[in-house]
Amino acid sequence: MTIPCLADYLSTQFVGCRDCNATIVFATTTSSKKIPMDPLSSDRGNVALRLQLDASVPFGARLLARVFGKVDAYEARHAGATLYLSHFVTCPAAQARRKEGK
Ligand SMILES: [Zn+2]
Repeated sequence: MTIPCLADYLSTQFVGCRDCNATIVFATTTSSKKIPMDPLSSDRGNVALRLQLDASVPFGARLLARVFGKVDAYEARHAGATLYLSHFVTCPAAQARRKEGK
């Protein structure tokens, strides 16, 4: 079995953000946390996404996220990597909550 295409995953496995209804996908970080991701790559992105085969999930693969620090993200983007942003960064509702200090 070959690893499914990341673009296929991003265009089929999305859900709606419960705060702003934007299209998001959930990825698992290297520390096993689930994070919501924007499914479109960003030139401000700092998260690399890849698929790992996993027969226990419906798609047959799970989405893994590797979060880069600012400098590493900058260097990875300039090396041609496609990076994504966490929806925490772009969600207007999450930003509003942050401003309120909640
Ligand atoms: Zn949102």
